Amino acid sequence: MELQPFLPLAQKFRAVFLDSYGVLKNYKGLIDGVQDTIASLREKGVAIRILTNDASRSQEQQIESFARLGLDGFETHEVITSGMMAKHFLQSKITEGKIAYLGTENSAHYILQSGLQHIAVRDIDLDNIADVSAFVFLDDEGFDWNIDINKTINLLRRKNIPVIVANSDKLYPVSKNDVAVAAGGIARLVESMMNRKFIHFGKPDTQMFTYAYNRLKQRIGPITKKDILMVGDNLNTDILGGNKFGVKTTLVLSGNTREDNAENQINSSGIIPDFISRSIIA
Ligand SMILES: [Mg+2]
Repeated sequence: MELQPFLPLAQKFRAVFLDSYGVLKNYKGLIDGVQDTIASLREKGVAIRILTNDASRSQEQQIESFARLGLDGFETHEVITSGMMAKHFLQSKITEGKIAYLGTENSAHYILQSGLQHIAVRDIDLDNIADVSAFVFLDDEGFDWNIDINKTINLLRRKNIPVIVANSDKLYPVSKNDVAVAAGGIARLVESMMNRKFIHFGKPDTQMFTYAYNRLKQRIGPITKKDILMVGDNLNTDILGGNKFGVKTTLVLSGNTREDNAENQINSSGIIPDFISRSIIA
């Protein structure tokens, strides 16, 4: 598939949905030149939405972290995270008891602030779990792998409660060559040991796309799926999600998918983007 210059392509759409990691930023920080692309899109009146499988930060914290990297001017309504989807679900479905979680207090604070109490799995007394009403895999930090994952399994063996995965990514890149296990990876490990299926939020599930699309229609008026381009570096989340939702998709080669094996990955996965661009700045 031929590489397409990004900006002329994106400007044919009324809205672009951008993945964050591998598209706007990477392990080193902001990808050089993305400010210019964002500014050009805004100038042409193309609406921008960031769709990220990141449950560790609230929308406001996402915006602050972009600003710290040198990308200013994003507004709350432009950022949609898998954490938000998990939060909406918990607010509407879990109405009593305590929500137990694996992750950091910081992410727990924004996702779980629905009026219900929340408790880190490390603080749970397994002999006293009558009031634990749900469990959430929040993020990949803030717990002891050995102690807290074992405790999670024992809790879920003792009590059958809804289990929510706030970020379904299995791995995330930490340097040019290395990855680390993300919350979705830990959740899958526990699922496979327990022969259970948990409730996963984030791309490739389409709930983030539906949410972004509906909100966009409310803000800018009539728009169809044909007017939207999904841009991401990951075939299995961004491109599969965009394809399932029914919008055009662009794979960028600035992150997870390398130029030298993009064709291979597309052929072996069967997940076919409509376009490929080297990055959003090329
Ligand atoms: Mg990405």
